[in-house]
Parts: sequence; structure tokens; C-alpha cells
Amino acid sequence: MKAKIIDGKAIALKLRGEIKAQAEDFFIKNKRKPGLAVVLVGDDAASAVYVKNKISGCEECSITSFAHFLPSATTKKELTKLIVSLNNDKTVDGILVQLPLPKQLDANKMLGLIAHEKDVDGFSVHSAGNLMLGNDTLVACTPAGCIELIKSTGIEIAGKHAVVVGRSNIVGKPVAMLLLAQNATVTVCHSKTADLAYITKQADILVAAVGIKEFIKGNMIKKGAVVIDVGINRYDGKLYGDVEFDACEKAASHITPVPGGVGPMTITMLLQNTLKAANGK
Ligand code: NAD
Repeated sequence: MKAKIIDGKAIALKLRGEIKAQAEDFFIKNKRKPGLAVVLVGDDAASAVYVKNKISGCEECSITSFAHFLPSATTKKELTKLIVSLNNDKTVDGILVQLPLPKQLDANKMLGLIAHEKDVDGFSVHSAGNLMLGNDTLVACTPAGCIELIKSTGIEIAGKHAVVVGRSNIVGKPVAMLLLAQNATVTVCHSKTADLAYITKQADILVAAVGIKEFIKGNMIKKGAVVIDVGINRYDGKLYGDVEFDACEKAASHITPVPGGVGPMTITMLLQNTLKAANGK
């Protein structure tokens, strides 16, 4: 039997409709739209596309975007000045500094300057720490999107064995923390994990965030598993996930496609975080 496809595009579209309605309510109450400042330093082509998509997501959801494009040679002092002014701007509810930053700018230090309540990417040490402590916080967008997709299947997370392949600060670790918060039993695998397939085959829920095209093979997953593919790997102008889709589709109960799975959820979660920040929650 083939797995059910988790349609991230449709789920994101529905959520965006809800965010738009809530943003319009916010406008009625506050006489202004929720505001997201997006800061891009340098001319990285992929980052420019992400920023463009974030700005158009804002437009779609009645959120004001404030775009700040800075040159590659921007100094620590200049970026600090901008972040501080955005922190003090009452029309700005969320601040997103697009990563990666040019090498003269320390990302951790720069993100740490963002006012905690405006850290809509959830990447600062403060937000990551709160996530680990189980405190209410603005959660990193891709991991939050993964949880929404798992929940959309209707499958109970509590008590399940969730295996996360990848331990990055932006995907693997926060998604593992979120699964733990949902009472899954969580195993985190990484590049030094011995006998990876032995572990992935035990997963009721498998999240792949590796960055290697079709890394998870059909014989590495348990029958009936929920498979969330975070990977975005470009080859010859085509997008591939971290999961060998055709083979895994035969064993899984639910699976996300690439494109059209996790990808559309990321910006949607950013818009949701902006609204949450605007409402002071
Ligand atoms: P990363 O390179 O920071 O981390 C990759 C992780 O994979 C590491 O923790 C590493 O230990 C692990 N890994 C590498 N080789 C391995 C192996 N042989 N066995 C087991 N684990 C191994 O990547 P990232 O930033 O976490 O991104 C992962 C993927 O997700 C990438 O394809 C990226 O493009 C994609 N991504 C997608 C979105 C989205 O919105 N859909 C957002 C962020 C990242």
C-alpha cells in the first residue's frame, strides 16, 4: 500500500488563510498591521529568493514587511545599529536576519541582539534555551512546520519513537526538542551515528534533515512510519529531498513530498510567529 501524501502546500495555504484573518483582526484593534522586518546582508542568490518569498508571504497575509538590504561589507557596528533601531520600532513586531551572514559578522552575536520578543526565527540563544526548558517561546520555523505536518496526520505523537536524522541548530536539535515536548521518545542521529539504519528502522516518526539527496532508503524505514523530509537538494535544476521518495512511499503510512512538504510550512510558521509576537504572546 502506498503512503498518504502529507500535502504541505495545502496545509500551509489553510494556515495562511487563518493568519490573514487574525492579522486583519489585529489591524482593527491596533490601527496598524503586524510588521515583520527582514534584513538581508550581501548578495547571496538563494538568500535573496528566500527573502523575496518571505516578503510576498507577508503581503498575502496582511502583514507589513520592512525590507532592509545591506551590502556584503556591512560592519558589525552598522548591523548592530539597524537591529537596535528595529528593536525600538513599535511598528516592527518581528525581526528576521537572513542567514548566512558574511564572515565578518558573527551570526550568534548578531541574532542575540534581537529583542527576545521579536525573534521570530527563534534562532537566538535565548529562544533556543527557552525551547529546551519547555518554556513558551517563538519556535524556529522549519521545526515548528514539521510538527504541524505530523499533527495533520492525526497520529498521536505521545509515546511514539521519533528518530531525527541531523542535529543542526536550525532543524535537527529544535525538532527533537519539539517532539520531546510532545512526549515522543526521541533519538537524534548524526554523521557519527553507528548503524543508522538499525535506528531509523525503529522509528514510528522519522524526520530527515541531513542535506544529502535521497539519503534515507526504503529499507531504512519501519512499515507504517510517518516520514518527514526536510531536505532541499538541488541537482540539475530539480529539487530532491533527503528521502528516496518512491521506495519510502511504499513502506510509510504518511510521507511529505519534496517540493510541497516541509518547504511551504517554513514561511507560514514565520508569519504565524510574527502574529504571535504582535499579539505579545
Ligand atoms: P546541516 O548541514 O546543518 O546539518 C546536517 C546534519 O546531518 C548534521 O547534523 C549531520 O550530523 C547530519 N548528517 C550528515 N551526514 C550524515 C550521515 N551520513 N548520517 C547521519 N547524519 C548525517 O543541515 P540543515 O541546515 O539541518 O539542513 C538539512 C537539510 O534541510 C538541507 O537539505 C537543507 O537545505 C534543508 N532545510 C530545509 C528547510 C525548509 O524550509 N524545508 C529549512 C532548513 C533546512
